[in-house]
This record gives sequence, structure tokens and C-alpha cells, in this order.
Amino acid sequence: MLPPMQHPKISLLAGIVAVALSGSSLGASTGPRFYGDPPDDHHPWAVHDGNRPQPPRVVPGTFSSPNQAGKPPSDAIILFDGSDLSQWQDDKGQPPKWVVKDGYMEVLPGSGQIQTREGFGDCQLHLEFATPAKVEGDGQGRGNSGVFLMGRLEIQVLDSYDNVTYADGHVGSYYGVNPPLVLPVRPPGEFQVYDIVFRRPIYRDNQVVDPGYVTVFLNGVLVQDHTPIEGPTGHMGRTRPRPFPEKGPLALQDHGNPTRFRNIWYRPLPPRPSEGGTDGRLTTEATMAKRAEIAAAIRADAAALRDPANPLPEMLRWFESLVYAEDAAALQRATGLAETYLKSLKSLPAPQLAGKRDEARQIRDAFRYLAKFKRVPDSFAPLVEIEQLIRDQGWDRRQR
Ligand code: MG
Repeated sequence: MLPPMQHPKISLLAGIVAVALSGSSLGASTGPRFYGDPPDDHHPWAVHDGNRPQPPRVVPGTFSSPNQAGKPPSDAIILFDGSDLSQWQDDKGQPPKWVVKDGYMEVLPGSGQIQTREGFGDCQLHLEFATPAKVEGDGQGRGNSGVFLMGRLEIQVLDSYDNVTYADGHVGSYYGVNPPLVLPVRPPGEFQVYDIVFRRPIYRDNQVVDPGYVTVFLNGVLVQDHTPIEGPTGHMGRTRPRPFPEKGPLALQDHGNPTRFRNIWYRPLPPRPSEGGTDGRLTTEATMAKRAEIAAAIRADAAALRDPANPLPEMLRWFESLVYAEDAAALQRATGLAETYLKSLKSLPAPQLAGKRDEARQIRDAFRYLAKFKRVPDSFAPLVEIEQLIRDQGWDRRQR
């Protein structure tokens, strides 16, 4: 398969349509049309679909070092930037008593866990922690804290540096459920980095639709690999699957050790197909609903492009809508514009007609695409006509 750069006809056609797209309700997306395989029963977009929205631009942050917290990406929601605990509260909804100093917060042992004032669900979460430089205790008693996702599921924080404890209780564990794959730990007192991708369990009518997953990197090393969520974390007891709410607070544990945290932020994640998201493999019902929505937006765009002096952009847009959903009126309008276009093409004096070679071939290719994927009737008259014109003009012969 050749990349688009090696198909000059595509960039030309994209150019025509890009002009047509200005002011589109679908946004200023660009890219080839009538190109990759069209939408099907499980994918509302074509392959390489030029109408598919562009991913939002994010300014990346900077990486942290043990001595220096990095900068969050531009779309991060900041939970703690080192200055205050205004985003946090204690168990009773009061301002936390934890210590804030030199850009970090520190557990005040005995004051209880703290949690965010706002709840959230699926996320990419970043935080950094340092277990106490002064090593005291052993096993679960050394540098213990914890990151409780939605207040329910603990990703353990522990000084696991030369410290033996049960495997499912080490730093990087989904506590009591799954040990970390490895222990990529830094010495006590050094800041370490957690990057967590969390997807909560989804239930419908008390049935699991998606168990949810947690992926964890510790100091850039994978320690939880898309681990299925078995349930909220408990101590000693075997957890069981159960529904989670849509949102819950992020909580940090007070386990009696003065562990420090800094640079805490998250980015909410878009919904999965199982909860209404439209990227990925969808159900046929969801696919058809999205295809109808895309087609309607393109048709609104096409109607706004009406210009008797230049019917091409409007015509292409109507035809494009048929790639997503059938519509008799759209087909009729598009076909009428195609007939008008072909009539005007044929009436051009020879020198002007000669300049239409590339354009005509692009329109022919668009019509061929529509015919190949049954978006226009068999023996589609405008296709037959433009193929004849191209043959008559010798426009398909190799040019030197
Ligand atoms: Mg803990």
C-alpha cells in the first residue's frame, strides 16, 4: 500500500474538498476522500478518513528527576503543584493537616488519609512519592502509604528497597490482588514516579460489560500490565467484582509513615465504546447511529456550499455523505449536480477543457469509489459519462 504522498491525485482531490470544507461543522479536518475502505457495521469512519476529527493538540510536559519535579502536560488537571492542599480534604471534609514544605506534602502520621475534593473516574494519573530517608520498621511497616484510585483500589506505596514483604503488598502492587512485575525502586528518601492508567469497571443491569483495568509504570518501568480490576482493595480478604460509581476521589493513605508526595496531576480519559465512546470497534447499533450523525453533519455542510458558479465542492460533499449513510434526497441532489458539472465540462472550448484533465480524473475516481462500494446505483450514469469523456480526450494515456 502506497502512502498518500505517492498518490498525487489524492492530494489534488483533497485540495478540492479542503476548500469545500471551510466552515464545516465537522471541523477543519483534512485528508483524502473516497480513499480507504468505507465505514462498515462496526466502524463509523472509513480507513484514513479525512472527516475524522483531528486529535486535540497537547503541549507535553517535562520529565522529572529525583531532585526536580517535571512539568505536567498542558491538558492536565493539577491536584498538587507543591504549593498547597486546596484540592484536598480529610475524611471529615476538613482541610488536611498533612505538612506542605519545599514543594512536597508529607503524611502527618495519625491525622488520617486525605482525598481530593473532586471525584473523577478513568484517568491517566501521575504522582511522585518519596518514602522516609530515615529507614524505620520493616515489611509493611516501612514507608507505607498508598494511592487509592476512586478511593477504592490501592496501588501500594511502600519502601520496597531491600525490604521483604508479601509480594502482593510491595510498591507497585494492586494491593492484595496482583504483585508488581518487577521492583524498579529507588532508595528511601528519593522521589519516585508513578504513571497510572486506570479504567473503572463498567456494569449494565448488574452484568459486567468491562471489568476495568489498571496499568502502572513505576519510575518508567511497567509494573502492572493492563491488570483486570477484581474489586476494591481490602486487607486479608479476597476481593470480589462489583460496580464502581462514575466518579470517586483520589485518596492518599496515612499508614503511620511520613511519606512525601509531589507533582500530582491527572488527565481524564475519553469513554470506551462500551459507555458511548465512538473510537474503537463499536456495536452495529452504535456504529449506525454515529454514521447517521456524520452523514447529517456533512449534508448540513453540503447545503451551505451551494454555489451555482462552482457546483463541485457541494457535489462532492453530498456524495461524501453517502459513504456514511444512504439518503435518497442527497443522492438525487448529488446526481443532479454531477449532471450539471458534466454538461458544463463538455461545453467548454477545447483549450479550457484541456485544463480540466486532472480534475475530471479525480471526479471519475471518486465516482468509481462510490460505485465500488455500492454507494451509487449500478451503471451510475455520471460515471459512465465521465469515463467516456476521459477516453475521448485520451486523458488516461501516459503523458510525457
Ligand atoms: Mg498502603
